[in-house]
Amino acid sequence: MDSELSNTTALVTGGTSGIGRAAAVALAGSGAHVVVSGRDQNRGDQAVEAIRAVGGTADFLATDLRDATSARELADRAGQVDVLVNNAGIFPFGPTEGTSEQDFDAVFAINVKAPYFLVASLAPRMAERGRGAIINVTTMAAGFGDAEAGLYGASKAALTLLTKSWAAEYGPRGVRVNAVSPGPTRTEGTASMGEAFDALVAAAPLGRPAAPEEIADAILYLATDRASFVQGAVLAVDGGRSAV
Ligand code: NAP
Repeated sequence: MDSELSNTTALVTGGTSGIGRAAAVALAGSGAHVVVSGRDQNRGDQAVEAIRAVGGTADFLATDLRDATSARELADRAGQVDVLVNNAGIFPFGPTEGTSEQDFDAVFAINVKAPYFLVASLAPRMAERGRGAIINVTTMAAGFGDAEAGLYGASKAALTLLTKSWAAEYGPRGVRVNAVSPGPTRTEGTASMGEAFDALVAAAPLGRPAAPEEIADAILYLATDRASFVQGAVLAVDGGRSAV
């Protein structure tokens, strides 16, 4: 097995599905011990099995990420974390006037607050050791106006700015903080999107959806020393959508 990340531990939020699960498998394949988090125990067990099947090691920590307390508890239970992948997210689409306050708070809780307090807990510990990598999973929809994706895009635009702020804050102490900005990717989470997904796919030069593994490869790159001089970057992995 490739050992580029041997003797490291990676925490992948939302590692039970889609992009997060593919990232967990890829990181484990490069030698990291992976802590997978999510809410669903069955999907967690399956993700751990998938990692063990390729010779990797992993644990599952069931966590409902909803606030600072849940984020801090996850950080403490995970132990020493060398690579943090802030991937867990929700992406409800719909008109502004049809969005309840509860929906609004849920999107910002999982997409912004949870990463914020995970970084608040884990980045200082990485900085004490003088090294670490944080990869935030944002979206191409953070970069342009979409009539049905304002709330989601705004939450990920916040995460994009935080990526740069954290690079400035923790970079001088050896922590690299970067983001991957995916385009439409076939996952359990996008399976029910129908025509809205197809329209997003059609707008990009490559004209096809990504496989989760294609996003995971970019996450893996940013986690390794191959990206040793990449700091505060937002890597578009969107089939060219943000270029046109
Ligand atoms: P997905 O298949 O729906 O998976 C989402 C993951 O997040 C699951 O593992 C889920 O685990 C976890 N999660 C959701 N709410 C949670 C909560 N409250 N507490 C803890 N874990 C929670 O999503 P995906 O399509 O792979 O997307 C992953 C990330 O990529 C998201 O941040 C998304 O915004 C971003 N992204 C996706 C696309 C795309 O086209 N797929 C494009 C751009 C960006 P449990 O259900 O077990 O809790």
